[in-house]
Formats: sequence, structure tokens, C-alpha cells
Amino acid sequence: MEPIKDMKGTAELLARLGLRDSNSGACEVDWIENPGGRLLESINPATGGVIARVKMASLEDYEYVAATAETTFLNWRNLPAPQRGEVVRQIGVALRENKEDLGLLVTLETGKIRSEGEGEVQEMIDICDFAVGLSRQLYGLTIASERSQHRMMEQWHPIGPLGIITAFNFPVAVWAWNAMIAAVCGDTMIWKPSPETPLTAIVVQSIVNEVASRLDCRGVFNLVVGDANDVGERMIHDRRLPLISATGSTRMGERVGAVVGRRLGRAILELGGNNAIIVTPTADFDMALRATVFAAVGTAGQRCTTARRLIVHESIYDGFLERLVNAYGSLRIGDPWEEGTLVGPLINERALDTMKNALEAAVEQGGRVVAGGQRLERPGYFVEPAIVEANPGMTIIGEETFAPILYVMRYETVDDAIAIQNGVAQGLSSAIFTNDVREAEQFLAPDGSDCGIANVNIGTSGAEIGGAFGGEKATGGGREAGSDSWKAYMRRQTCTINRGRSLPLAQGVRFDVG
Ligand code: NAD
Repeated sequence: MEPIKDMKGTAELLARLGLRDSNSGACEVDWIENPGGRLLESINPATGGVIARVKMASLEDYEYVAATAETTFLNWRNLPAPQRGEVVRQIGVALRENKEDLGLLVTLETGKIRSEGEGEVQEMIDICDFAVGLSRQLYGLTIASERSQHRMMEQWHPIGPLGIITAFNFPVAVWAWNAMIAAVCGDTMIWKPSPETPLTAIVVQSIVNEVASRLDCRGVFNLVVGDANDVGERMIHDRRLPLISATGSTRMGERVGAVVGRRLGRAILELGGNNAIIVTPTADFDMALRATVFAAVGTAGQRCTTARRLIVHESIYDGFLERLVNAYGSLRIGDPWEEGTLVGPLINERALDTMKNALEAAVEQGGRVVAGGQRLERPGYFVEPAIVEANPGMTIIGEETFAPILYVMRYETVDDAIAIQNGVAQGLSSAIFTNDVREAEQFLAPDGSDCGIANVNIGTSGAEIGGAFGGEKATGGGREAGSDSWKAYMRRQTCTINRGRSLPLAQGVRFDVG
């Protein structure tokens, strides 16, 4: 399709995706019937213009949706898991049919470049495929019993309706990681998307609604576009939702974790990262350079797995930094829907301010900006990605500034490098570039990287859905997507069956009655 050049193209895209156009050029979307919340504007970060206005849900609307998710669960949990998998398979088919337009909408609303927008939709498709296979593999263990003529086994049951809270930077993929796995596990769900990306959520929901009504399973997947302070808070306090899966800043996770913990619910927390790449003297420098640039400036530095710190051996430091600065100089920053653009805008004005403040703090603390950092003089929220020469003692380095700032530091020994890398509160993603097998293994050892993701000769970002995704420490400890992450969406039941005629007690305990 033709790249969008103006709001006219935007309106055409929205119409193709089934959203109603208004006379003003923007699009009014009434999703829940007679919703009681305020109007929310969806902004194109590349222009600062309004793409659409969305009527948000009120607390009363939330109640209706929560009750729907609760009652739908009563039947959905009893449907055989492979039949639930068939619903997810059909959602995957529908997403394939809409991949290009949906990817473009992701680009429009988040500012990520075209291939990343489409990549995000592909990630949804991938997790659908994974979940379909999983729907025939939700197996438990059989365990040897210490008691004669007894059998012990574990089985996994659906846990209930759950809440999914998502961040702006992966507006639909992270929902799909949760939703598709939860659906085959037999859970129903309520999704609260980021207020920055309501439109993408509405379009995805409408695609899912079409499949759900065709397959007679409405009420499994639900969406509430609402304020964090009323609908969001109501959701995390809601005892009908035994599990809340929340993706976003560590600050948000601290709040969600505390509220859900107080009611002894479960939380999957996917929070901020402060990811580092270590470059050693034996590294393939071309690979290390490409990986660093993609990890540091991809999605304009707005990935949870963005490389924010680069730790380079002192013997190669100057040469590597010089190549990096040159590479930054050739980055094409611009309209994210244009072919060839590598860096789109930040999400909003606030993100630009945060970046500016962080760069000022870095300089005050002894850092030196060696590339970028200037706002582009044009509409939208564009900035040049920045490189800052830094030292590990600077406190600003411990913060996740959700913008493209890369702090570069020297190290002497690989022990030092790993210590610098682990010396922050967050623990999401990490990487080492080395051709020395000892260094690689040290990085992956128990006293190596303390992160949920540890890569060798691969940058920090761009995970596959087949692995469990998530991080430690202030990143929240949650795991989503592949491997056995599905277990978090189910309740485990240990069952012991006695086929004998006596009642032996475990641990040899005697309790003879009569
Ligand atoms: P954010 O914390 O501002 O918001 C995330 C979501 O939480 C939004 O939907 C928001 O409305 C909601 N929220 C905030 N307070 C709430 C409350 N009290 N109750 C209920 N909901 C509440 O984050 P953001 O700016 O949208 O996203 C960027 C952050 O997300 C970064 O820190 C990034 O690292 C993180 N992130 C982490 C992962 C991961 O998997 N670890 C993935 C993507 C993004």
C-alpha cells in the first residue's frame, strides 16, 4: 500500500480497518455502547496531530465488562483446551489477513518504523501459533507416592478471568503474549491498554470480536479503554480477577504488585529494563556494532530491552566508540512510515523532556555527550539518539530513561564488566560480544549476568516468542510468552488417589481411631 503522507491517508487506513470517519477528518469511535468515560485523543507522534478520539469506559462500564468476563469463564473453562486452541488459530488467521494495515496502524500510533510495526503483528501471529500447539500440551506430572496403592498427579486448571495491563511501546504484541496463552489455558480476560495507544487496541479487539462471534465465544476477550486512576485501579483491586498481568514502568509495577499482593492475588510483572552490552577484545566488532546500534536506537530507544549501557574493554574502547559515533551520524531519522527510516519519534512531549533532563543530569554528573541529543526542528517528537561517555558511578545510569540515550563505559577485566552490568536495580536483558568461550560461559554462569535474558553475540533486544520473556529485580520477575510461562495462567492441583482398602498416612504418622 501507499505510505501515509497526510491525515487523508490516515483516514483511509482507519476506514479499511473498520473505524468510522467523522466530518472533522479525525475519527470518533464509540466502542462500548454508551460509554461513560471522557474523550481520549490518540495522537500521531510523528506529527503531533490527532488520529482519533476515543470515548473511554467509566467504572460502570468496567463493572459490566468484568461481570461478562466472570460469567463467560464458567463455560469457557470447561471447553476442551484444543477447542479453545481452534479459536486462537482463527484469530491468528484473521491477524494474518490484516497484518499490513494493522502494522501500519501500530506505526501511526506509536511512531515505530514500518518493519517494526509489521513485526509486532507478526509477533502476535507467532504467539497464536505457539498457543494452538500448547492447547494440546497443558500436561501435568505423575509423581511416585510413598503410600502403597496410591497415585499422585498434578493437573492444571484455568484460574479465572484475568486483567491484562499493557504499555504503549508494544501496544498489541504484549497483549497477545498474555491473551493467547490465557485463552488456551481456559481463562477469560479484560485488557486495559495504554492511553497512548487506544486505537490499535480497539482495532485488534474488533478483529477478535468478529472471530469470537463467528465461533460463538463472545466475552472471552474483553477490552476496557479507561483511566489508570479509576478503571485501572478498580481492576487491580478487583477480587474477581485472581491474576493481573501488568507491563509498564517499575513505578507502575510497584503499585500493582502492592495492591494485588495485599489481596493475595497473583501478579505477572513485566517492568522496566536497564540493559547492557559488553564488548570484549575478541568480539566480532562489525557484529557488535550493528547489534549495539539496533539495540540502542531501534524503536527510538523505547523498548524495555533497549541497550542503555555499553561496557567496552579499555583496549578497544576508543576505536569502537569512534565507529559507533560514525554509525549514529548516518542514522536516518524521520517519518516512521517512509521506507529507509531507522528512527521514528518518541511517544510524546513528556518523553522528550525526560530525555533532555537525563542528558543534563548526565553532564552534571561528569558525563560527556559525544553524539546526538538534539530535538529535530519539525512537528512531532523527534530527537537525535544520544551517546554519552560515562562512568559507572553516575547515578543517572541507574535509571531507565525511556528514550535513546546510550551510556558508554570502559572496563578492565570481565569480572568488572559483569559487576558493572549487574550493578543496577533492573534485571531484564543483557549481552556479551566475545569469541572467547570462557568469557561467554562466565557470563552465563550463576555468578554471571543476573538478568532474565542473557545473550551471547546478540544484542539485548529482539526476543523470540518461544522463550520465556521477563526479568529479575526491579523488572518484576514475571515471565510471559513461550517455554512453560503458561503455568502462571493456571492453578496447579495435586491429586492423590487411593485404590487400596486402608488409609496409610504420609510420613508414617499413626492416628488410629476406635
Ligand atoms: P506506564 O507504567 O506509564 O503504563 C503502563 C500501563 O500501566 C498503562 O496501561 C497505564 O495506564 C497502566 N497503569 C499505570 N498506573 C496504573 C495503576 N495504578 N493501575 C492500573 N494500571 C495502571 O508505562 P509506559 O510508559 O506505557 O511503558 C513504558 C514502560 O514499560 C517502560 O518502563 C518499559 O521498560 C516497560 N515495558 C516493559 C516490558 C517488559 O516486558 N518488561 C515490555 C514493554 C514495556
